[in-house]
Amino acid sequence: MAFPERFLDELVARNEITDVVKGYVNLTKRSGSNLFGLCPFHSEKTPSFSVSPDKQIYHCFGCGKGGGVISFIMEIENLSFPDAVHFLARRVNMEVPDDKDDRELRSKRERLLSLNREAARFFHENLSKPQCRAVTEYIAGRGITASSVKTFGLGAAPDSWGALCDEMERRGYTKTELLDAGLAARSSKGNIYDFFRNRLIFPLIDVRGNVVGFSGRRITNDENERKFIHTKETILFNKSRFLFGLNLAKKTKLGRIILVEGNVDVITLRQAGFDNAIASLGTSLTEEQARLISNYTREVVIAYDSDKAGVAATERAIGHLERLGVAIKVLKVPGNKDPDEFIRNHGPGAFAALLNSMGNHIEYRLSLIEAKYDLTDDAGKVAYLKETAEMLSTVSSPVAREIYGNRVAEKLRISPEAMQTEIKRVISRRVKEQKRKLERETRPVNIIQPKTYKIRYENPVSAAAEEGIIRLLLLGDPSLLREVGELTKEDFTSEFLGRVFEHIKNRYEEHKTVSLAAMSADFTADEVSYITLLMQKPASAATAEKAMRDYIGVIRTEQLKKKEDLLAISRKYREIKGLEDKDV
Ligand code: ATP
Ligand code: MN
Repeated sequence: MAFPERFLDELVARNEITDVVKGYVNLTKRSGSNLFGLCPFHSEKTPSFSVSPDKQIYHCFGCGKGGGVISFIMEIENLSFPDAVHFLARRVNMEVPDDKDDRELRSKRERLLSLNREAARFFHENLSKPQCRAVTEYIAGRGITASSVKTFGLGAAPDSWGALCDEMERRGYTKTELLDAGLAARSSKGNIYDFFRNRLIFPLIDVRGNVVGFSGRRITNDENERKFIHTKETILFNKSRFLFGLNLAKKTKLGRIILVEGNVDVITLRQAGFDNAIASLGTSLTEEQARLISNYTREVVIAYDSDKAGVAATERAIGHLERLGVAIKVLKVPGNKDPDEFIRNHGPGAFAALLNSMGNHIEYRLSLIEAKYDLTDDAGKVAYLKETAEMLSTVSSPVAREIYGNRVAEKLRISPEAMQTEIKRVISRRVKEQKRKLERETRPVNIIQPKTYKIRYENPVSAAAEEGIIRLLLLGDPSLLREVGELTKEDFTSEFLGRVFEHIKNRYEEHKTVSLAAMSADFTADEVSYITLLMQKPASAATAEKAMRDYIGVIRTEQLKKKEDLLAISRKYREIKGLEDKDV
């Protein structure tokens, strides 16, 4: 039977692989980010069984077994895929949905959505009550207007342990529902109490207009209280997939989206006329959030705080967005302020001026590099030149490389040609590395027949390139499919790799993620092990597009060779036949 996608995702997320494996294997060694122990699937004296918490996979370098948490349980408990799913669900107290449960889950979602909607209204109406005056004053103190309060549906949680729970129970919601929605928490004595107390409430509204959760900001200066709290993960809400303000910003006519750090920044920006701001909830942008943004805009302005954490978060956001082909600009708010403070001190006009003068991400990166070196010093200049050339060599547009290269040359007072030569040198070095790697990978002696996995490659050279393609696609970037072009399953000389290719392609086309969990249902244990092995080998997202073209090149060349061989054979055949004909 097929399990719902969301259920499998959650099952795998809740069954952290090291936790599960530790129940069977003593993970005694650490190497890099991997943990090692004695393999439970074959007997050995030194540990060659590794678990990667980052990738959530295991792999034994001795016997070759590997996979995700579901395949681990299938293997070690000798269970079928559905049984392993049930096993893991029991382990973390999750219910396995069947069709009936699916219906129940849907009606449960509906219930929690309506509970959230009523809670949001309750919080909002509190604003006019005397016991919430502190929150109202806080709102006014931060310069949030009545119109914003309405647009964002802001509210107040009273300084009380039970105001919300009592009211919602009175309206027929159960304690379990309040807990499941994250609106209530349970005390050690077993009583339930309001999770949000004495806070300014921001309802978290998704792009469909559903209230999926809440953020609450402290209204005092009491450092013992967390400044912000958010709804825990529920069946409606997952922080890493949510963006505050996107429900409003998606309607902007400004043609781009501004990414900021805080909820209040989103509100202040809107008040200043920028109706296109969104924020993640205190975490740096995830891949899923980047994908969500890219559904609504082709240009993103990152306006994070300019402190160290903000700079690091900016780099990560650039990485995710760039892969999706979104144009990126970076706005630096002067004086380590956030947009909210800046606008309050300098006004909307000053912020608009910042937007007009900001650079794209290349200029932003150049300025970061420049800040690292002393350009009055020769050694500093050389180091600056090297690092900028490295950076510019990753820029795909030749025009951009030339323009920014010239800018660097000017700064260093060297000739533009010298700079371009340096960039070209780095690029050709990179291309050479890539080529060497490809040659190494496709050299017959280096191709290991995956014997232990009951898989055989007819054409090892083509198969190595086919593996390369799978590896790149497993990096998780659906936009790489563009590079794949006309390639189909039939182009794969390995029937198995062809099936893997088709599986990944279908999932991306259906906007689903690729995971070992999903594969465990479609492939045998041996096959999943081998896919895990493929995932272990390095593949770089930075050069993925070029590598993809190279791999496809290898496959096409092998096809031509085969065709030529066939031609040669048929020629030979005709010759022989001709001779025979003559003989007759
Ligand atoms: P304010 O201006 O009210 O101080 P801010 O939005 O500028 O708030 P930041 O400290 O920049 O606050 O944090 C940015 C975002 O990170 C917040 O909007 C909030 O969603 C989240 N956040 C901040 N502190 C916490 C915390 N202690 N726990 C969870 N999330 C937090
Ligand atoms: Mn702030």
